[in-house]
Amino acid sequence: MNRRKFMALGVTTLGFGAGKMASAVRPAGAPGTGNDDRAQESAGLPLEAYEPKSMLHLPSHPVSGSRFPLIDFHTHITEGDAHGAPGAVRFEISPETCLAVMERRNIKTMVDLTGGYGEGLRDAIHKLQDAHPGRFIVFTEPAWDKASDPGYSRLQAELIESAHRSGAKGIKVLKGTGKLIAIDDPRFDEMWEAAGALNMPVAIHISDPEAFFLPIDRFNERWEELHAHPDWSFHGRDFPSNLALQEARRRVMRRHPRTQFVCLHVANAENLKYVSECLDEHPNMHVDIAARIAELGRQPRAARKFFDSYQDRIVFGTDASSNANTPQQLFGDKLYQIYFRFLETEDEYFDYTPAQKPAQGRWCIYGIGLPEPILRKVYWENAARLLGLPANPGAAA
Ligand SMILES: [Zn+2]
Repeated sequence: MNRRKFMALGVTTLGFGAGKMASAVRPAGAPGTGNDDRAQESAGLPLEAYEPKSMLHLPSHPVSGSRFPLIDFHTHITEGDAHGAPGAVRFEISPETCLAVMERRNIKTMVDLTGGYGEGLRDAIHKLQDAHPGRFIVFTEPAWDKASDPGYSRLQAELIESAHRSGAKGIKVLKGTGKLIAIDDPRFDEMWEAAGALNMPVAIHISDPEAFFLPIDRFNERWEELHAHPDWSFHGRDFPSNLALQEARRRVMRRHPRTQFVCLHVANAENLKYVSECLDEHPNMHVDIAARIAELGRQPRAARKFFDSYQDRIVFGTDASSNANTPQQLFGDKLYQIYFRFLETEDEYFDYTPAQKPAQGRWCIYGIGLPEPILRKVYWENAARLLGLPANPGAAA
């Protein structure tokens, strides 16, 4: 049976035609030649057990802390609490845990995007922003649960104004809202306008990797990721296409030119040409790089040009959380060190994730070695401008 047939049958096995031969020629006593291993390889190595190690001999320049103090614009320190009142959040990472990592890695400020609303929001602001001035910033989220109520438009705008009075510095908008509402639905117009009037940037997550919209078959480059999380696939479901979602977001940015939008995950990291067109057309558009160094880092020349062209519109972010379902963005020292290495060095072919196996696909990344002025903008200045912080991190509280 050839490899294609194996995959078509949905078997998570790599057929090693020469498996027997491979173990026969390996010297006795070499690692991985135990009887069990040998038997397994003869029978075919399961894809999930396959962990190839690169044999390239390359210089490596690990980066312990970022060269300049930075703002992580995209984290999830708190998350919505499904068991609590509407708008309630619970702490997924403690402020103390955050501060220890921040100290070690030269992170000045973390933005907690998922701060909820109402009482939940005030609690997050109290424990993060008020307790540790300058170190944390909290965003609010729309009250999706009320979106079908009469008078929602005005109510939502008022909730944003009240969140602003409580200290929220921006708004986070998620694409999936239970009952799907188009992002350019007119009932959100008052909210976008309120955000603009209050200088609250809107962090907006719309699209997902293109592979999530395609069949989960042998051609799908995220087969392993989707195999582990079949519910992440939009294929065959009643869901707008990736492009339709992107275009809806563009209509929002066009209609609300006073409002600043930060399109999360590089807006569409797999298609930098399209993102460039969007940035050219919409001066109120910005992007973060959260959870997309696996995409940027495997197109290092295109990515480097992109950073050159849009150096005033890109902000640093990781999407760090404590969620075990997304090991590629697990909050901790190692996560940040990989981002720093990607941005600051020209190292070649290294892992994009601290996870033991590449969670999103079997490839490695290349550093883009940003020059100091661009690094300062991406690490601090661009986000500081959006958040109303001083241009110099040393002057921030
Ligand atoms: Zn996120």
